Amino acid sequence: MQIESLAFFSGKPVFKKPRSTSNLIKPNKGKFIEYVKKSYNTGKINSNGPLISEFERRFADLHGAKFCVSVCNGLWGLVLTIKAIKIHDKNEIIMPSLTYRRMADIAAWLKLIPHFCDVDSKSLGISPKYVEKCINENTSLILAPHPIVNLCDVEGIEKLANKYNLPLIFDSVESYYAEINNKKIGSFGDAECFSLHASKFFNGFEGGYVTTNNQELANVLKYYRNNGFDNNGQFKGWGMNAGLMDYHAALGLASLDEVELQVNKNKERFLNYQDLLKNILGIELVEYSFKEKRSYKNILVKLNSDWKLSREMTINLLQAENMIVRPYYYPPLHQKNSSYKTITSEMNNTNYLKDRFLLLPCGEFVDSEDIKIIAAYLSFINTNAEEIKNRINEISK
Ligand SMILES: *Cc1c(COP(=O)(O)O)cnc(C)c1O
Repeated sequence: MQIESLAFFSGKPVFKKPRSTSNLIKPNKGKFIEYVKKSYNTGKINSNGPLISEFERRFADLHGAKFCVSVCNGLWGLVLTIKAIKIHDKNEIIMPSLTYRRMADIAAWLKLIPHFCDVDSKSLGISPKYVEKCINENTSLILAPHPIVNLCDVEGIEKLANKYNLPLIFDSVESYYAEINNKKIGSFGDAECFSLHASKFFNGFEGGYVTTNNQELANVLKYYRNNGFDNNGQFKGWGMNAGLMDYHAALGLASLDEVELQVNKNKERFLNYQDLLKNILGIELVEYSFKEKRSYKNILVKLNSDWKLSREMTINLLQAENMIVRPYYYPPLHQKNSSYKTITSEMNNTNYLKDRFLLLPCGEFVDSEDIKIIAAYLSFINTNAEEIKNRINEISK
């Protein structure tokens, strides 16, 4: 490798096809078609099709929850669930700032005010300590998204929600398949929300679902998603067209059929990265817990003081090579311009952490050879950081 041959300058990209941070799994085609046939042959191919109940039963089991309600996508799953269980005459929703980029919009759709809390510096997730600082007489609900790789302190946050009698929803899009003390993610809080977008752990093309142990909540969500009608065609009230399509359920079910295979592949990729990154100065891989079940889907690294390039420059160099790396949830929500009101509590950890993490390519289209190339490239650009920076300065003169 030579500096001039980096794609950022004048070379050809290392990868012809992009290597992204999206999962993009393609479940077995035969299995998928089998599900589709089952659905097609009944003639009911809308969102009340025959695969929906199969999907909901199997995904409830997967998460150790009593109920699963499928929806059109993860975002509307969150909106509908919050609407169903928030405290009605209060208007603040507590959420971290370092999270999914549309999270504050979700509150805004409901005319609620996002109240941003700081995150724990180890897990990158919200913790009872910082959530408690945001609780006041206006608090309507706690929205707890799991961070990428680690889990937030589920038990601590549940205790806090109980202490103040507040509804609690987990956004568990990043925590499929994980367990805490042998209890499955999907069975905590009042409800947990998931996405089936192709970039996520399970692929349903697009879609989502909510798990809960609360029958009343499950019933409300079912008429919310069905234009306000319950299963017997009785009009119950407010609703919208937000159900999962049967063919999306088909792909979701085919994904579920091979979940163990996916996790094994993810783990192999993770161990590969772990092995190769440990020798690279300045890069720390954020490790999954090996003591309990995890999906090993994401490859998250921290750039420490031995990393000689800015994160932005690092991203530009890598993306030029078709390594579509991404900054970790950037910018944090409290630093985004928004057209609606927000409240920001202290952000010491968030402000420190926001520029330090990077997601590396993962998922179906990344193999062990690719990981070798990515690691070698990272090592090269850090070793030659000074020359690279000089070269960039020359160009920009
Ligand atoms: C993708 C994502 C969502 C939204 O899911 P969609 O199905 O894309 O609407 C919500 N939360 C998190 C953490 C996500 O990553």
